[in-house]
Amino acid sequence: MPRRNTLFFVLDIISHYYAAMTIPFNIPPHSENALKYIENSFRGSKLSGDGDYNKKCVHWLNNYFKSKLSVVTPSCTSALEMSMLLADIGPGDEVILPSYTFSSTANAVVIFGAIPVFVDIEPDTMNISPAEIKKAITPKTKMIMPVHYAGVGCKMDEIMAIAQEHSLIVVEDAAQGMLASYKNKPLGAIGHMSAVSFHDTKNIVCGEGGCLVINDDKFLARAEIIRDKGTNRQKFLNGQVDKYTWVDKGSSYLISEVTAAFLLAQLEDSQQITLPRLSAWATYHNGLKQIEEKGHLKRMSIPKECLGNAHIYYILLNSQDDRNKLAQFLKNEGIMTTSHYVPLHSAPAGRSFGRFVGDMNITDDLSNRLLRLPMHSHLKNEDTLTVVNKINLFFQN
Ligand SMILES: *Cc1c(COP(=O)(O)O)cnc(C)c1O
Repeated sequence: MPRRNTLFFVLDIISHYYAAMTIPFNIPPHSENALKYIENSFRGSKLSGDGDYNKKCVHWLNNYFKSKLSVVTPSCTSALEMSMLLADIGPGDEVILPSYTFSSTANAVVIFGAIPVFVDIEPDTMNISPAEIKKAITPKTKMIMPVHYAGVGCKMDEIMAIAQEHSLIVVEDAAQGMLASYKNKPLGAIGHMSAVSFHDTKNIVCGEGGCLVINDDKFLARAEIIRDKGTNRQKFLNGQVDKYTWVDKGSSYLISEVTAAFLLAQLEDSQQITLPRLSAWATYHNGLKQIEEKGHLKRMSIPKECLGNAHIYYILLNSQDDRNKLAQFLKNEGIMTTSHYVPLHSAPAGRSFGRFVGDMNITDDLSNRLLRLPMHSHLKNEDTLTVVNKINLFFQN
């Protein structure tokens, strides 16, 4: 038996044993060809950025987003940073974003000396509220960053219209958005630029990785330079100049061939990887309908114009206390659940680097009552049914 199979056999036994005791919150997805591609990547003479696997990932992503250019990056965080450089965000500028998001969205703004302006979310999706965006616009506002929470699209038509009216740039934080859509467009394909994550807590993964999607022509030329240490190396490789040199600001936003090989296998399998998540999502959603009707909790919802990717399944309990008690009860039953973001406007760094507009009631309230159920592509139907049954049991007692 080849060594690889033996290893998988052992892992399989361990994971079955483990699964018998607990239902983990997340297990990163596997893909058929990952090991083969990673092995191949070593055989090439080029291990650094822009090799064959990198090019294949870019080709896949360009095709998927129908973007002008999608570049793979070391993380969604670095893609967000790259978008700030491209948009020339700097001291004095203001960027409007939801308080209910990950630190990376705000950090990208802060490290370039600009001010994150936090606004409230909408209660049905936990996504940024277009009405609150309007209230926060000042002459210094330069950008809006919608975050598609749980892989559910923000009201992008309204947001793009506000942006157009005030000449603002829209950078989508589509970290959680792979294979989800808004009005039949992939999340990430709508704003002027978008950042996607392939971190191992997301749907499609390569360990650590991301992608910057450029949907507006005017950012194309500098993107090639900024990602490549501020040099015009790309022009040199294309034969447009005979030497390459330092021409602009920049950094290193490339990924190695090994990571790209891993990513390509995941991208090619992305539909397959998403199916078990969608199935788990549906089991939760159907299984918790009655308990919602009894008034014990509210299930997450997806607006008609959006197609979800089952990145997250969350429920909103009636109080923080209920949430914490249910989480503890499920933990005792071997079921791992988690809350989510501490709103950034009340976090220590958010208070010192940013400011907020509006009362933040919805953000403060919902973040305290939200619970995320186990969600990954290894979940079996019996696992999700167990979770549903235990939640029902909790409310019977
Ligand atoms: C995961 C996540 C990020 C960060 O992604 P990395 O690839 O880890 O940098 C940023 N924003 C949101 C909304 C996320 O969920």
